Amino acid sequence: MSRARELLSDPLTNKGTAFTEEERDRFRLHGLLPPHVGTLESQMERRWRALGALPDNFQRYSFLRDLQDSNEILFHALVANNIEALLPIVYTPTVGEGCQRFSEIWRRPRGLFLSYPNRHRIKEMLADPAYDRVRAIVVSDGERILGLGDQGAGGMGIPIGKLALYTACGGFHPGELLPILLDVGTDNARLRNDPLYIGWRHERVRGPDYDAFVDAFVAAVAERWPGALLQWEDFAGANAARLLDRHRDQLLSFNDDIQGTAAVAVGTLLSAMRRTGRPLSAQRILLFGAGAAGTGIGSLLIAAMRAEGLDEAAARATIWAIDRDGLIREGANQVSEAARRFARPAGEADDLAGADLATIVARVAPTVMIGVSGQSGAFTEDAVRAMAAAVDRPIIFPLSNPASHAEARPDMLSAWTEGRAIIGTGSPFPPVKAALTPVTQVNNVYIFPGVALGALAAGARGVSDAMFMASARALAEAADGASALLPPVTALRDVALTVATAVAEQAVADGLATVATDDWRTRIAAMMWTPEYAAAE
Ligand code: NAD
Repeated sequence: MSRARELLSDPLTNKGTAFTEEERDRFRLHGLLPPHVGTLESQMERRWRALGALPDNFQRYSFLRDLQDSNEILFHALVANNIEALLPIVYTPTVGEGCQRFSEIWRRPRGLFLSYPNRHRIKEMLADPAYDRVRAIVVSDGERILGLGDQGAGGMGIPIGKLALYTACGGFHPGELLPILLDVGTDNARLRNDPLYIGWRHERVRGPDYDAFVDAFVAAVAERWPGALLQWEDFAGANAARLLDRHRDQLLSFNDDIQGTAAVAVGTLLSAMRRTGRPLSAQRILLFGAGAAGTGIGSLLIAAMRAEGLDEAAARATIWAIDRDGLIREGANQVSEAARRFARPAGEADDLAGADLATIVARVAPTVMIGVSGQSGAFTEDAVRAMAAAVDRPIIFPLSNPASHAEARPDMLSAWTEGRAIIGTGSPFPPVKAALTPVTQVNNVYIFPGVALGALAAGARGVSDAMFMASARALAEAADGASALLPPVTALRDVALTVATAVAEQAVADGLATVATDDWRTRIAAMMWTPEYAAAE
């Protein structure tokens, strides 16, 4: 292929009409491009108008994915300059539909699909020199995409979307990022029977075969990119914590659904508590849903309270966890090992066996209620009114995504509490006029780009729980002065820098850093890339 065609077909080098006259002479681009010489600004204007003319967000998602695959710098410039409008499209909630309809809109390859039948070729697939610069990977097996269940190979939409935010917020150059989908089949029969499905048509491989496949993948990544960071994303509950534990000493990695969610939820809670004036140790916290997100939040809360001086038992006593078979009590429920940590002592709450949420709330009088169950409408009017009867400013976070799965809609929560509820949601909702404190979107994007940036800047050997705690505290501090509980999304790049600084400092304190500096903020700021064209070579 001629150099001219290479430049135009690689999304990292293509500039479209913005190739200069000098570049057109040098690389024989004349004729392949129209005579007009554009700028990044004029190109953004053209794309912005085209986006605005599209009928819905899914069409906009599809348009942006095409743009990313043809001119990546322009895509990132557009996202960075319009983050408020485009975040809900390149990421939640629209990315959910993007995953469900991934096969329908598939056009050009992006990232790596490592499928089970190709398991003996993993090293070969990672070897492409195009990936020599990779510093960060987001990987999923597509089994639990947002609250939408098994999306098989379509789950690739999530690593692609998350990494777009590594660039928009964390200032990573797109050439340093690699989305990976581990295609071990899908138990979603609708996909397997869809003639357009792009993935491997097979039921999910499970058990020792699955583990051996992931082991081989992790070993190959550690060998190919020593020191790179791997973010685990949207693995199903049973695998999420297990894979993190199994591999966290082998490579720099974290699980965003567990640790990122925990940090953003705790950071938002710390910010809410600054408004109510009541410390963490004086809260009564009701966790509704004790899966990956719920147990991650609970564990980080306990760590935070221990840092405030409470012992483990006293910290645990502040948390009441509910899963699908009710309040978790010692020896009484079918729940995971991680969830059992939050069991109320035997005998303490026997009368609440089989009780509904309103009854539990009336008895516990929680000050905080966090929903991570994926159960739409689970925060009933009775339960919320019972909570609001006992607490002046109830803190209520229905975090389940997408919006249709939220435990309650913020306008209802506000109405049932006369506007007193301090509300955080997982998905974006329209503003609620009656709310005394604006509704906040408790989005992991406030945490993961900064954690990745800070851990890599410090050359960290691991990501400790204390580094996540530091990210949560930094986030709460960054929210000071904001009207909502978190800074506006327009400040996300600055938030990532603040979080990264705290994470790198904590890596030093934990003895995990291999890089030293006395000014992390300046050092990290200098590493952050801004989308602009480089001279063609
Ligand atoms: P998960 O499947 O691991 O956990 C869900 C848990 O809810 C399970 O333990 C399940 O048994 C429990 N559950 C189901 N029905 C219930 C019921 N009727 N009552 C009580 N518990 C019930 O999933 P996860 O990764 O923990 O995610 C849960 C939800 O949280 C998803 O909707 C996800 O989108 C959302 N989430 C939000 C954020 C955020 O807002 N920042 C981050 C991560 C996850």
